[in-house]
Amino acid sequence: MTSSNETGGAGDTTPHHETPTFGNPDLPPEGLVNAAGDAASTTMTGPQNPALEALFPNQMNAPATDISTQPFFWSSFNISPRRVQRGGWARELTQSDFAISDEIAGVNMYLEAGGIRELHWHQTAEWSLMTRGGCRVTTLSREGLPSVEDVFEGDLWFFPAGLPHSLQGLGPDGAEFVLAFDDGGQSESNTLLLTDWFTHTPPDVLAKNFGVAQEAFSDIPLHNLWIFPGDVPGDLEADQLSAGVQWGGTEPVIFRLSQSKPVHENSGGSIRIADSTNFPAAKTVAAALNIVEPGAMRELHWHPNADEWQYYLKGSARMTVFNTGPHANTTDFHAGDVGLVRRNLGHYVENTGDEQLIYIETFRSDHYEEVSLANWLAHLPPKLVSAHLNIPEEVLATFPRETQGITPIR
Ligand code: MN
Ligand code: MN
Repeated sequence: MTSSNETGGAGDTTPHHETPTFGNPDLPPEGLVNAAGDAASTTMTGPQNPALEALFPNQMNAPATDISTQPFFWSSFNISPRRVQRGGWARELTQSDFAISDEIAGVNMYLEAGGIRELHWHQTAEWSLMTRGGCRVTTLSREGLPSVEDVFEGDLWFFPAGLPHSLQGLGPDGAEFVLAFDDGGQSESNTLLLTDWFTHTPPDVLAKNFGVAQEAFSDIPLHNLWIFPGDVPGDLEADQLSAGVQWGGTEPVIFRLSQSKPVHENSGGSIRIADSTNFPAAKTVAAALNIVEPGAMRELHWHPNADEWQYYLKGSARMTVFNTGPHANTTDFHAGDVGLVRRNLGHYVENTGDEQLIYIETFRSDHYEEVSLANWLAHLPPKLVSAHLNIPEEVLATFPRETQGITPIR
């Protein structure tokens, strides 16, 4: 093998291995940079979908620092089948659709003004973030105490596993929201519905249970309703009174996340967190709402306690997930997309657009936990860090001294 950088001509079958370099460390080399002078390497002759490819520049031409490969961590509600009924619709990503996500399943739902998600309960806890409009939510606590609340864009609710609830869109435009169930297998089509139980109980048992003649049940629907139209809810307090709400009698099931104080805020954006420390009801789902300005980035970090399930609300991003191996893969995200980072795997999320990037992270845990790479390195003997990275101590001293959350705009 010669020291020449020239690629071999016809008949030269010698593997062309560059010396590993900064920014392109791998042997055998990966990435477009290795194909310089050998255009045939990158030929794509098969069927292509240019519209789809254009959304994934980092998939098509990965950064030279990427090294294949690990389970795919991208999915999207944009490609999830939408179940539409009169009154609203829903689409979901369960583990059947998104194999890597075994801790969280997601649902994106819309209810028109007055539209009702039928009274129901299920085996898993339900966390939700309102993304548009307003919704009236009802539930019952473990002690049997009712809650009736209105939630609006940026608000959360949390219903523990097994506790019954309903959702109804408010005027004028109804409600759109994302649900996170604390089990990747939970499907929106796999819930225990009030109408199904009535229909599948002998009428004389219904009569005995409620102390009325069985004819009272002769007009119940024979098929479940799931989502159906209704009258736009009226005065909240009147509904609370008629349901027997005792104010202060039970733990709040809602939390105004977007109105809460950020845990990190600077010129690059902000991070707000809701977990059982400030939203005690949320015993099994912790969440963060991240706003990242153009040019800024959610800093390099990882989460020791749970997988991170992401939902992108606005803007565009790229994320690289660093895994053992080493493996590192970069993927692009847009509004409506979902990402998943296994616990402890390193990652950053960079705003790649010219508008704000807004996304949420949810975790199957009672609390939010993170390790910031910069915070870690700032809290070690500088000599020790310098010995690893060959970076002079005086340069290390200029690194951030604590967790930033989002990198500031410089
Ligand atoms: Mn539910
Ligand atoms: Mn994260």
